[in-house]
Amino acid sequence: MPLPASTHAKGGENPVWVYSFGPGCPTPPLDRNLLGGKGKGEAEMTAMGLPVPPGFIVTTEACVHYKYNRLSFPKGLVEQVEACLVTLEKQMGCNFGDVENPLLISVRSGARVSMPGMMETVLDVGLNDKSVLGLAKKLSNERAAYDSYRRFIAMYSNVVSGVNSAAYEDALKACRKREGVQFDIGLSTNALKELCQEFKHIHNQQTGQEFPQEPRDQLFRAIKGVFHSWDCDKARAYRRFHGFPDDWGTAVVVMAMVFGNRGDDSGTGVGFTRDPATGEHHFYGEYLVNAQGEDVVAGIRTPHPINKMQALITGSNLPSLEETMPEIYQQLEEVGRILEQHYHDMQDVEFTIDNGKLYMLQTRTGKRTGFAAVKIAFDMLREGLIDEREAVKHVDAHQVTQLLTPIFDMRDKVMASGKLATRGLNAGPGAASGAAVFSSEKAVEYQKQGKPCVLMREETSPEDFAGMVAARGILTARGGATSHAAVVARGLGRPCVCGCGDLVFDHAKHEVRIGSNGMVLKEGEPVSIDGTTGQVFFCSLQTKPSEIIQVLIDKTKRPEESELFQQFKTIMDIADKYRRLEVRANADTPQDAAIARSLGAQGIGLVRTEHMFMDKKRLMDVRAMFFSDSEDDRKAAANRLMPYQKEDFLGIFRAMHGLTVTIRLLDPPRHEFLPHTEDEQKALAAHMGTTLERVKQIGESITEANPMLGHRGCRLGIALPYVTEMQTRAIIEAAVEVSKEGSEVLPEIMVPLVATKKELEHQKGLIDKTAQDVFKKMGKEVPYKVGTMIELPRAALQAGQIAEFADFFSFGTNDLTQCTYGISRDDAGQFLPLYVEGVFFESTHSNMQVFDFEPFQTLDQDGVGELMKIARERGRRTNPHLHLGICGEHGGEGRSVKFCHEIGLDYCSCSPFRVPVARLAAAQAAVEGQSKK
Ligand code: PEP
Ligand code: MG
Repeated sequence: MPLPASTHAKGGENPVWVYSFGPGCPTPPLDRNLLGGKGKGEAEMTAMGLPVPPGFIVTTEACVHYKYNRLSFPKGLVEQVEACLVTLEKQMGCNFGDVENPLLISVRSGARVSMPGMMETVLDVGLNDKSVLGLAKKLSNERAAYDSYRRFIAMYSNVVSGVNSAAYEDALKACRKREGVQFDIGLSTNALKELCQEFKHIHNQQTGQEFPQEPRDQLFRAIKGVFHSWDCDKARAYRRFHGFPDDWGTAVVVMAMVFGNRGDDSGTGVGFTRDPATGEHHFYGEYLVNAQGEDVVAGIRTPHPINKMQALITGSNLPSLEETMPEIYQQLEEVGRILEQHYHDMQDVEFTIDNGKLYMLQTRTGKRTGFAAVKIAFDMLREGLIDEREAVKHVDAHQVTQLLTPIFDMRDKVMASGKLATRGLNAGPGAASGAAVFSSEKAVEYQKQGKPCVLMREETSPEDFAGMVAARGILTARGGATSHAAVVARGLGRPCVCGCGDLVFDHAKHEVRIGSNGMVLKEGEPVSIDGTTGQVFFCSLQTKPSEIIQVLIDKTKRPEESELFQQFKTIMDIADKYRRLEVRANADTPQDAAIARSLGAQGIGLVRTEHMFMDKKRLMDVRAMFFSDSEDDRKAAANRLMPYQKEDFLGIFRAMHGLTVTIRLLDPPRHEFLPHTEDEQKALAAHMGTTLERVKQIGESITEANPMLGHRGCRLGIALPYVTEMQTRAIIEAAVEVSKEGSEVLPEIMVPLVATKKELEHQKGLIDKTAQDVFKKMGKEVPYKVGTMIELPRAALQAGQIAEFADFFSFGTNDLTQCTYGISRDDAGQFLPLYVEGVFFESTHSNMQVFDFEPFQTLDQDGVGELMKIARERGRRTNPHLHLGICGEHGGEGRSVKFCHEIGLDYCSCSPFRVPVARLAAAQAAVEGQSKK
């Protein structure tokens, strides 16, 4: 009897921990957070009438309960699994553990977001020494039965009993050698039978326990094994990188097994409904005849192309599914079309062909490169499959930066043709050059030393995740375009070349050789990979700007010459149409301002004027302005700096004509300007007309224990008012001059690190007076605004008072985060990684992430965000026209930008190359906000 169509009753009397799906079962609540992406996909495909083996899903909440309750199942879970198992037996017409007609099941992980290869799966659960005989009869294929059994023993031992899989791989290798075959597929039935014995023996020896023969025991332990895999190192590292919290948990999907390893009319494969590397509209994938489960992605045998197009792209001469099983291929394409129609997005599917019948085992939104994301959104929009709002949501905001990253220069590649070593699959576009490293550990080591490297591996497994993050690019000898290496690299935005079958590693000699031409590369020597073409060069190659940069900034390409640019522009134009938040840039030079404008900035939200003082030519006068003994000398130095400052502002105003430019008054920790060497001190003494001793004395007297909380920000402008006056004069004179040239200028003067209204009142008084003097002197006025940064918790709380003197607030969330948490921006690196990585937590015996994310990168909405809301409310109560923005680093981070939209800020400001990210994130926030209403 099927389970009732119970709604999810979290925390209620009888919580539902398990949901059945399949013929006769009501569709479970299609909630990804509850069922995981895989579970939801299967339940949904079943509801759509697609061919899916039936099964049941243990929810993510059961996993979370397990994790936080001393690794125990929640009450009722066992009974619910038993009931679902009975349902499944009825649906399949066979029984779990039956000796004559056994039901076998797969037990698979599936979190709410896809984490390719990071968690575990056990296939063929239910097999034992007796049911394997029944399976042989049922399949009329003894070989397939023992092939399944040996797979099951190895997977179960690894995932559930923690036996290192290397022992099984060695035994398998030895067996192939004995039998004189190259691939597992060549092993005879007898060899597989012996292998099963040997595998059990390995298990028993390593665990000190008999291999379990009781199917229910196998099932419940496999469920626990999958739960545990949520917290394994690679899964945690993956979550850290992508910013997913540890407390989501994984669902467990239990499904009736279908058999791809039944003979030549069976097989298994994976595919994408469009090319995930380039976005081209053709089915993309690989399959293996007579194979099961992970065989395709694990790179054990070279997979066959799914269709003729794939064969062409990969240069494979193996027969494709399109040619060997044309009807199945047609059906698969049709399923792909139906899925895209349903999900309005590119899908990543897994399928098995059992005795000539197609079964869909998974569908999920396919991971793709930034290039593919933009093209797919562009194409689907033109195909009428999605509307503009959906197109905006299709591209992960951070992925657009991939389109701006450098590529190799064609001419350099031609020049380096003698160093062209080999070619593989172009699995992740972009160019990467660096030292060759052959292990993940080495890649991490290189990264720590700040040396770029390319990770080269026979094949990458998900354990290599940390190395893949550390490397500039990834190159593998084995594995196809859908291998874990390719999928993960795409998610990370790393250039990736896969399946370079020519590479022969010699780990003892720390070198790699190219089989076909004998070229040799030692570990540490330079290598370059082109993930767009699949080329591998044994030399270092210079990169050049992306096509988008060539069109927009360098102007070396015309827009109509670049398809990529047109796709990018279409999506960005749509984003601009839907977003409400204005996007500005943080830029300190006319060049940066011009770049920002080309990338779509609608103004400059932060000019850090102290950066203009770092120039060697000006440094002496800056030091004299701070450190001279007499006020006259300090003022004189300030006056000498004024023309330089004005020059800078003239350039920025001209570049940003017609747009707002927010200039922040000086905010330097003064120690940054101190001369450090004796030579520099002597030079300064000469410049200031004083002695070396005096310079040293001054240095000592201004040394602060904590300069970030010291004499900086407006505190400096109050102590040295002529600095504020000089800067205001420079800003306003430049603005008037540019305005006289006929350009519109909209300067905003921003006072930093304000904590009290009196500080702003003081600075605003100086600014206004100086501006009036300049207007009088120059005979022309320009409109300007005065505002402040909100960087201190006190400023947020006092926003009502401070707003009396402010036309605008700009949230300086770098300092606001520092001061809210009491974590020094400069010293956070000492412990923040540990907080984010997690620490062992005694009471749950598990890893506890103290912070879900790095708060200097992703805005802390609960703490810092709360202060922002308070400041917004109190500030606007005093001044309803108060303009609100953000200019901390968070202004270019997707989730933080969405938060800024939600709390009603007017603009966000970020570094120039993140402007497209902010534009897209702001549009996504607007579109998502509308669809919530
Ligand atoms: C801030 O504190 O967020 C800010 C933008 O100022 P800075 O990073 O220069 O301190
Ligand atoms: Mg600051």
